Amino acid sequence: MSENAPLVIIGTGLAGYNLAREWRKLDGETPLLLITADDGRSYSKPMLSTGFSKDKDADGLAMAEPGAMAEQLKARILTHTRVTGIDPGHKRIWIGEEQVEYRDLVLAWGAETIRVPVQGDALERIFPINDLEDYARFRAAAAGKSRVLLLGAGLIGCEFANDLSSGGYQIDVVAPCEQVMPGLLHPAAAAAVQAGLEGLGVKFHLGPVLNRLEQAGDALLAHLSDGSEIPCDLVVSAVGLRPRIDLAAGAGLEVNRGVVVNRELRTSHANIYALGDCAEVDGLNLLYVMPLMACARALAQTLAGKPTAVSYGPMPVTVKTPVCPLVVSPPPRGSDGEWQVEGSGADLKVLCRDAAGRLLGYALTGAAVNEKLSLNKELPALMA
Ligand SMILES: Cc1cc2nc3c(=O)[nH]c(=O)nc-3n(C[C@H](O)[C@H](O)[C@H](O)COP(=O)(O)OP(=O)(O)OC[C@H]3O[C@@H](n4cnc5c(N)ncnc54)[C@H](O)[C@@H]3O)c2cc1C
Repeated sequence: MSENAPLVIIGTGLAGYNLAREWRKLDGETPLLLITADDGRSYSKPMLSTGFSKDKDADGLAMAEPGAMAEQLKARILTHTRVTGIDPGHKRIWIGEEQVEYRDLVLAWGAETIRVPVQGDALERIFPINDLEDYARFRAAAAGKSRVLLLGAGLIGCEFANDLSSGGYQIDVVAPCEQVMPGLLHPAAAAAVQAGLEGLGVKFHLGPVLNRLEQAGDALLAHLSDGSEIPCDLVVSAVGLRPRIDLAAGAGLEVNRGVVVNRELRTSHANIYALGDCAEVDGLNLLYVMPLMACARALAQTLAGKPTAVSYGPMPVTVKTPVCPLVVSPPPRGSDGEWQVEGSGADLKVLCRDAAGRLLGYALTGAAVNEKLSLNKELPALMA
């Protein structure tokens, strides 16, 4: 390895850029190289599901060009550059035929959208939205259109349903689950959010999946598995995300749901770390900003020579469905509690307590979200 090999970070999402920023506060000298497959603009991904309400298109959501980021971080940033392999034995990575050496390597390459199998002649009208470039493509396709079919009723699907409705679109949501945000949300709170979205005119089709999407004149016709047909102009796919693990697995790094790391964010190989959506930290793969920020602060310390373990406190999730505000904090894994529903209509306080009465988790909707700060004080940490 050459004397002055850089810290190499793959990814310029919130994980990559926040880590770089935190680390530069501690080390202003070591060369830093960031590599990204996309255009490298700095933006906040959570804002993608608020574009219409905030009246911002993709360019409006971008906060800084990669050139400005390079200057700020004293870094080189390679954009539209896809890493194709890791060679841990020689401390280098591959970009096609080209090799790049590293002092330490950080995987911050995120998660990829899951695609569901659909038949038909209009598949190019299905838009996944998982980064700013996806969003730009979707906004271009949606211009002048009025009906959007949304696949997926998870957190991201519900946020898009709310935002696109605010943007004037007629929304049909199709998902095979029985309630919105299954797995994340208590059924009572899910019903409140669904009712709020229905109040905006969103139509839910829970149970069936999209089988076929076909051209029908200027528009499209969606054929669902229950035999129903929905006319629409384009489809947004928000059926879920899966951490990117293939390149890590190919290099012999331990992977599970995500790239496996310990609380110091170290992978199974020396000098290779991971954080953000791609990382499974001590068994937890949480696709949210709060854990990612905690990891960025801890890993910056470790990379600057002071090994530091991350520890997650309570991490409630604020869901951006303004028509029915929602904050949810699922009980920690393995905990056992009983749920109780208080309130009525749109304003629900759904609490999960253990046998001793201790709060394990909650879902708050409508006016009840105001109680979040006081309840947060009672919540258990996600990492003991
Ligand atoms: C619509 C939406 C709304 C959300 N809202 C919220 C919210 O309200 N609150 C919240 O906490 N979280 C929210 N999230 C989740 C949050 O945005 C993510 O957890 C976070 O942005 C992940 O950041 P990341 O840097 O790990 O990954 P990403 O932002 O996905 O970045 C991955 C980077 O790696 C690059 N890359 C990937 N593969 C390669 C390769 N082979 N070579 C080179 N580069 C590569 C990509 O180009 C990109 O630069 C939302 C997500 C979405 C999609």
